[in-house]
Amino acid sequence: MDFAAFADRAAAIEAESADTVITERVGELLADAGSELPIVVRFLQGRMFPAHDSRTLDIGPALCYEAIARAAGRNVAAEDVESRLADRGEIGAVAASYDFGGQQGLGAFTGSDDGGLTVAEVDEDLRAVAAATGDGSRDTKRDLLFGLFNRSSPEEARYLARLVLGEMRIGVGGGTVRDAIAGAFDVSVEAVERALQVTNDYGLVADIAREDGDDGLETLGLEIGRPVQAMLAQTGTVTGALEDWGTAAVEVKYDGARVQVHYDGESVRLFSRNMEEVTDPLPEVVAFLERELDAPAILDGEVVAVDEDGDPLPFQEVLRRFRRKHDVARAREDVTVRLRAFDCLHADGADLLDAPLRDRRDRLETVLGSGVSEWWLADDAEAIADIEAETLEAGHEGIMLKDPESTYSPGRRGKHWRKRKPDVETLDLVVTGAEWGEGRRAELLGTFEVSVRTPDGYAPVGNVATGITDERLEALTERLEPHVRSEDGVAVDLEPAVVFEVGYEELQASNTYDSGYALRFPRFLGVREDKAPEDADTLDRVRRLADAQ
Ligand code: ATP
Repeated sequence: MDFAAFADRAAAIEAESADTVITERVGELLADAGSELPIVVRFLQGRMFPAHDSRTLDIGPALCYEAIARAAGRNVAAEDVESRLADRGEIGAVAASYDFGGQQGLGAFTGSDDGGLTVAEVDEDLRAVAAATGDGSRDTKRDLLFGLFNRSSPEEARYLARLVLGEMRIGVGGGTVRDAIAGAFDVSVEAVERALQVTNDYGLVADIAREDGDDGLETLGLEIGRPVQAMLAQTGTVTGALEDWGTAAVEVKYDGARVQVHYDGESVRLFSRNMEEVTDPLPEVVAFLERELDAPAILDGEVVAVDEDGDPLPFQEVLRRFRRKHDVARAREDVTVRLRAFDCLHADGADLLDAPLRDRRDRLETVLGSGVSEWWLADDAEAIADIEAETLEAGHEGIMLKDPESTYSPGRRGKHWRKRKPDVETLDLVVTGAEWGEGRRAELLGTFEVSVRTPDGYAPVGNVATGITDERLEALTERLEPHVRSEDGVAVDLEPAVVFEVGYEELQASNTYDSGYALRFPRFLGVREDKAPEDADTLDRVRRLADAQ
């Protein structure tokens, strides 16, 4: 396909505003693209390489301006390009404002016989631009770009300049291309979508859709060494998760950097959340995985920084490692990093994206001996609160809640993974009762009844049983014991004296407590030593908060 034809079609698409028409036009272009289909699909999105491929042209705008200036004529300087850019606002319009072609013979372009550029030639030269590295590469890149602009008509130059700078601006996003592929080659949108998720390569998917239809798309799978987009999380609440799923998978939310592990049976490659390769900065993670992994696999996880005792350090410490890319030996002395793998996308020849999380976790645990993240299956809020308390106590960021039956959706921020929302509200409540613990905690008070102030005294709104470590319980027992009014079995009645700060997810009308309200997912946050019972929150305030929810 001539690049001029591509530019014409791109201009027609850019001039169109209705989404359905744009999709149709893109579909027609794909159908006419012939052997250059994969390139056309990428160019339409301003891309030279598929998203999983970390190659770039590695040129800054300045170099592009220089190449344009040189192709525009002997008297044109890069400053002229810049001043036109200030006027016209975007590089495509600037490139289209020059009359190129007077400088033949000066460039290093790969010439074609008739002088007209083809899409394949543009692709080939831009690949050479990307491949140029080391001494003198800046000149090589500029010469190649000059050669391309020198052979461009104004309309071609418009789209060439935009392509070079990675911004097509013709209103064609990923969704449009997906729908256009489906329309042009009569395959289902779902099949295209799935194929895109596993390959991250619009060019490849378009080609397979055209050649082998739906059946061909179905055979596309994950490939070791080709990263996929990470599944993402929404914020959510414990109560919401339990309502939706019955049982939730609870995982430690590590404060580190996301990594995707690709192991082909011999060596490991690591990719970051945006699919950049990060193998080199993490040599001990690579060595660890090459030792521990039993079979070829693709894993999802988090790299965390730890201190000498293995306790977590903040996220910034991991970033230091990434920043010190070129001085890894020194960074290794500064910061120890460890992998916490939490998902398994592929193991021993089998793609697991469509398998439920429980099965993927099983597979993860068989394929990787250690370094697997902590997780629990829980069906009640109190158990989850306990896990969260321990997790926070151990210095982690919090917890993730996941639907144990859910599949892995690359790139999706769906409702199947939720990061627990921090408490929306807190209340300062008076401790009016407690219970002696069991077993190891028999000598300690636990399960504290917390109450709001009412006009005639105090009325309970819930129990905080959790979020409290042994050490804290000892201190609290000491603090509360002098206020015991009476005991009945394990139950203890306390005179109002101590105020707790309590976090909760929601307020609910309830018959359980005299106040008529119950806190959902109440958690102990601390003692308000600065507050007396008379300063605690009132039933009135709770009523207002509940109404406002
Ligand atoms: P976002 O990913 O939502 O854009 P973010 O990068 O700041 O924002 P968070 O939203 O706070 O991250 O949390 C999601 C991230 O938490 C994941 O991308 C991952 O890096 C990290 N994480 C830590 N532990 C887990 C886990 N057990 N499961 C999934 N993700 C985890």
